[in-house]
Amino acid sequence: MEFKILDNGRIQSKGYAMLDKNAKFSPFEFSRHAIGEYDILVKILYAGICHSDIHTARSEWGEAIYPCVPGHEIAGEVVAVGSKVSKFKVGDYAGIGCMVNSCGECESCKNSQEQFCEQGKTVFTYNSKDCFHDNENTYGGYSNNIVVSEKFAVCVPKDAPLEKVAPLLCAGITTYSPLKFSNIKEGSKVAIAGFGGLGMMGVKYAVKMGAKVSVFARNENKKQDALNMGVSSFYTSTDKNIVKERFDFIISTIPTAYDPVAYLELLKFGGEMAIVGLPPLENEININIKELIFKAGKKVYGSLIGGIAETQEMLDFSLKHQIYPEIELIKPNEIDKAYENLTSGKAKFRYVIDMR
Ligand code: NDP
Ligand code: ZN
Repeated sequence: MEFKILDNGRIQSKGYAMLDKNAKFSPFEFSRHAIGEYDILVKILYAGICHSDIHTARSEWGEAIYPCVPGHEIAGEVVAVGSKVSKFKVGDYAGIGCMVNSCGECESCKNSQEQFCEQGKTVFTYNSKDCFHDNENTYGGYSNNIVVSEKFAVCVPKDAPLEKVAPLLCAGITTYSPLKFSNIKEGSKVAIAGFGGLGMMGVKYAVKMGAKVSVFARNENKKQDALNMGVSSFYTSTDKNIVKERFDFIISTIPTAYDPVAYLELLKFGGEMAIVGLPPLENEININIKELIFKAGKKVYGSLIGGIAETQEMLDFSLKHQIYPEIELIKPNEIDKAYENLTSGKAKFRYVIDMR
């Protein structure tokens, strides 16, 4: 048996938690809710580190619930299934992203936009109150297993490179979704601002969709990587005032304080900008209405991950076209170091924790 069921039916789990916002990660034992009729138990093999994990665990978006076990880029193997599960069997591979449940009945859920559950019942993978299980806190993927409603797990074929699949569950869907929403196609001129975990995936998808892609990074360190990915122009964020090109679409993945209006100015008339990067509260960004009006004719929207159906579509698209993230595998005792690198500009693209 790969897992232990406690007397009360709960599943024994262990992972790595931060105990307060300044803590280092330490081993943490806990239990997960019992496997319901429609739930699956997944043995976690790989977990990506998203910058949202850092914002959350450090309480940068508001006070987190501690102990905090982050991780919403999860790939693993199904080790048990509830009696009514039809999508998975034991031995299958599954991917789990930012959500583990929602009401399933409202218009948003019925349209597979579960991240916008109109009853407010979206249960996020960690740091979220699980209204379907006595409001207990959820714990994420920096752990050995997870119990999830089968609807919220996506099917991963057995020959897929699981360690590269993990980051697709957040970095992949969060960039794929707005590129589709804004109908990016052959010949579109796209710019990606912020060239980290999300930015890299945005570049790869946009290139595959036939767009002419530019990158705005913080410095020149990853210029060669961008060119290897098929980027046609590489700029640093300080260049944006002198850039002559105008774009159909810009995605901002920037996780720090910056001026979004400077990017708006780079859009063509009718162009669209999707904002996905969410800086800490203390660097909260607001777009000035007067600037919006005087730079009119451009559309700005925020985008939050993507629904489950679209996540499966993104995964199938990625596997079909072999679009994978650039990753560095690390051990669980290297999470603190990875966080430090991700906030000091020393990281390259995506760290993935080998949870095996
Ligand atoms: P990463 O840390 O992997 O990447 C961020 C990148 O932005 C880094 O390459 C960093 O450069 C670069 N950067 C930082 N400041 C600037 C700047 N002023 N100008 C240009 N580039 C800059 O983070 P992720 O990709 O994992 O996440 C990015 C953001 O997206 C986070 O805020 C995260 O919370 C958010 N997010 C939002 C989601 C949504 O659904 N809306 C889902 C997932 C994440 P350097 O390499 O030099 O540090
Ligand atoms: Zn994420």
